[in-house]
Amino acid sequence: AHEEQEQAGFEQFGFKENLLRGIHEAGFKVPSPIQVEAIPLVLGGHDLIAQAQTGTGKTAAFGLPIIQNLKNDGSIEALIITPTRELAVQISDEIFKLGRNCRTKTVSVYGGQAIRRQVELLEKAPQVIIATPGRLLDHLRNDRLKNFNPTTIVLDESDEMLDMGFLDDIEEIFTYLPASRQTLLFSATMPAPIKNLAQKILHNPKMVKVTTNETTNSDISQRYYIINEYEREDAIVRLIDSEAPSKTIIFTRMKKEADDLSNRLIAKGYQAGALHGDMEQRERQAAVNAFKQGAIDILVATDVAARGLDISNVSHVFNYHIPLNPESYVHRIGRTGRAGKKGIAITLATPLEFKEIRRISETTKATIELYEIPTIAETLK
Ligand code: ADP
Ligand code: MG
Repeated sequence: AHEEQEQAGFEQFGFKENLLRGIHEAGFKVPSPIQVEAIPLVLGGHDLIAQAQTGTGKTAAFGLPIIQNLKNDGSIEALIITPTRELAVQISDEIFKLGRNCRTKTVSVYGGQAIRRQVELLEKAPQVIIATPGRLLDHLRNDRLKNFNPTTIVLDESDEMLDMGFLDDIEEIFTYLPASRQTLLFSATMPAPIKNLAQKILHNPKMVKVTTNETTNSDISQRYYIINEYEREDAIVRLIDSEAPSKTIIFTRMKKEADDLSNRLIAKGYQAGALHGDMEQRERQAAVNAFKQGAIDILVATDVAARGLDISNVSHVFNYHIPLNPESYVHRIGRTGRAGKKGIAITLATPLEFKEIRRISETTKATIELYEIPTIAETLK
């Protein structure tokens, strides 16, 4: 009987029929561990601090109870705050997908989109808005949000928002929010600044934590290759040829490097594209869509642009340069090995960078194995 319970589907939460249909159509069969733990608490009206690794289904953990509880009274009932534009769009799409039989309307609100266009969308009476901190604050200060009475507030990817310097904006945003509200804080890690923030904005929160010992997911096999500086590009090309990845994200340190590598891969006949913060919002979204839909299968990206992106079937993540810190490494490789699928994370390091590999592997408690670059003959096999 115990096993049956563990395998129980989404019926266990008492969701309405139309929502169950949306979940089924999205292809979700059983709830993930964070969903099992968090959903009953959110439905029960509690404030919540939830810690779980990337790719564990946090969006639906807050999204499903939000859809279930919507009163459809014509107001903005739920507000989700997330660090990047891409994430805002992604969460909006996921909630829209799960709630489509419930007529759930979502609008994403982010910088880089014309204010007038956004105001038009907001006038279409969405129940749920998904916003990045800067633009949301701009709307709040200028009183542009009508019928805004969100009773459920979600801080998604809180650690990343703080890393990106949004703490002051978030604190000011909360001065505009109703005192009587449910607040949910999601984060992959719980450093002190997150705990301090939680103390300020949550009331008697419940805590859920679903993590393994490793901060990275065990479905990701992690390798590194020692190369010389001048061999970087050649090594990437050989590895792509020998690995034949279905979808790859290559992380670079700099925007220009992302453009350059992407252009050189295109010149060599690969279907590649760049994603970085100097591109216009429209171009960024076009690159993400092309990658999702398979028009390109290699995305060459910088850290910020790729934070939290959920793209299914990314088989390989490459670190063109070793990332600057272990947190960045964890976020980057978390783009693969999602939803129970296997992924491979490959880091290129020069002999001088080797100690960085050791630091990352010690901090994340993950095994990163040394591999040899395939020879050209092996690549051709
Ligand atoms: P996180 O926010 O924890 O990084 P996401 O919410 O983006 O993770 O979910 C990762 C992927 O898993 C998404 O593509 C999502 O649609 C999918 N997913 C979430 N929950 C389930 C589930 N219960 N069954 C199958 N797939 C799921
Ligand atoms: Mg997420």
